[in-house]
Amino acid sequence: MKSELLLVLALCLCVSTKPLSKKRTYNKLLLISFDGFRWDYDQDVNTPNLDKLVKEGVKAKYINPPAITMTSPSHFTTITGRWIEDHGVVHNLMFNDKTGLRVPHKATLKRSEWWDNGALPLWITAQNQGLKTASFFYPGGGVNYSGQAVDRFLVEDHGQPDDNETGWQQNIDTVMGWFTKEDFDFVTLYYGEPDNVGHAFGPETPERIKIIEQIDRTIGYLREAIHKNGLTDHLNVILTSDHGMTTIKMASKVNEIKLSNYMSLFNLTRFDLLDYGGFGMITPREGNEQEVYDALKNAHPNLTVYKKEEIPEHFHIRKHERIQPIVLLADLGFNINSRIILHINKGDHGFSNEEMDMKMIFRAFGPDFRDNFLAEPFDSVSIYPLMCKLLGVVPEANNGSLSDTKDMLVDNADTGGSSGRIKVSFSLLVLMIIILTLI
Ligand SMILES: [Zn+2]
Repeated sequence: MKSELLLVLALCLCVSTKPLSKKRTYNKLLLISFDGFRWDYDQDVNTPNLDKLVKEGVKAKYINPPAITMTSPSHFTTITGRWIEDHGVVHNLMFNDKTGLRVPHKATLKRSEWWDNGALPLWITAQNQGLKTASFFYPGGGVNYSGQAVDRFLVEDHGQPDDNETGWQQNIDTVMGWFTKEDFDFVTLYYGEPDNVGHAFGPETPERIKIIEQIDRTIGYLREAIHKNGLTDHLNVILTSDHGMTTIKMASKVNEIKLSNYMSLFNLTRFDLLDYGGFGMITPREGNEQEVYDALKNAHPNLTVYKKEEIPEHFHIRKHERIQPIVLLADLGFNINSRIILHINKGDHGFSNEEMDMKMIFRAFGPDFRDNFLAEPFDSVSIYPLMCKLLGVVPEANNGSLSDTKDMLVDNADTGGSSGRIKVSFSLLVLMIIILTLI
C-alpha cells in the first residue's frame, strides 16, 4: 500500500512540475539614455515626473561611468558590460594613428570596424537567443557585429535637431509601436540632450534648467504612452546617461592648459587626440616618447601625464592597443587644448570618473522593479547583467555584477525563472513526507 502511494505521489510530482519547467515569459525592456545627464541635474529643477519615478520605481544615488567619460566609450560599456580596454571603443572619433585618419563622431556611428572588436553588445546576444531588438539612435546600434546587424536600427544623421520636443515625443511613439505592433523585446533609445546644452552654455545655467524641464515632460509623455499602449505591466524601463558635465575654467581666473606652450607638437608628435575635454592622447614620433613625457610631466599643476604602462589598472583602459603611448588627464574643469584655446565649450566632460560632476543618473521602473527603492551607487558595467536578467538572456562574459542591482528587483533570486520551480517542487516534497508519515 505504502509503495503504491509513493508511486502515485512520485507521478503527481512529475506531472505537476512539468508545466512549471516551461520557459518563463519575460517582460520587455526599454533602455533610454539622455546624453550628459549628470546625476544631480534634477535637484535644482522642478521635475514632477522624475520625482514621481522615485516613489514608483528605483533610483540609484548616482552611477559611475567608465574611466574615459565620453559618449561612445561609455555607451558601449553600458550595452556590453565590458570595460573600455575590453571593448576597444576608446574615443568618440574613429582614428588611425598610423595613417592620421580621424572620422567625425556622427560618421563613426556607421563604421563597423570601430565598434566590432569582439565584445558583443546586448542587441546581438539577445537576437542570437531568439529575441527581437532595436536601436533608436543609440551609439553602436547602427553597425554590424561579426556580420550581424541589429534587427531594427536608426542612426542619428548629421544636423539632426537634438532638442525638438515634438520630435522627442514622436520617437517615443515609434518605439511604442515597435513593442506593441511588432513585438520587439528590447529597444535602446538615445537623446542627444542635455549634453549639447551643457557644452554650449555650461551646466550651471538657466538653459540647462530649461532642457531638464523638457526632459522631465518627455518622461511624463513616455509614462502616459506606456499606459495608453497597455504596456504598464509588461515593460521595464531603465533610464540612464553616459557621463556628467562640468563648467570649464577659463582665463583670467585660471592658467589654462595649452600644450604647445610646453613642447613642439609638430616636431615631437605624429598623431594626437586633443581638444576634446579633459582626456587626451598623444603618439610621439619614433624615439621622442621620453622627450614628450618629460616636457609635459610637470608642465602644468592641473595636468596628469601617463605613459601607457603607468596608467592605473583600475581605469581599465591601458590594455587596449588603441590607447596611445602618452595619455593625459586634466583636473576637473581644465580642458586639454593643443595649439589654440577656442572656448567653444562652456561645459565639458572627459574628466576622471571619480569626480562627482562626471557621475551619471540611473532610474528604473516597470513590473520587475520595486517601488520607492533607493540604490547605492554602482559602476555602469553592472547595467548589462541587470538587463540580461530582466530579458532572460544568458550574458556574455562581462565585467559587471548582478549583486550591484539585484536588490532593486521584485524577485531578486539569482536563478530567475527557475527559482519558482524549485520552490514548488520543495513544497510537494514536504507534502509527500507528511502524507507518508500519516499512512
Ligand atoms: Zn555623451
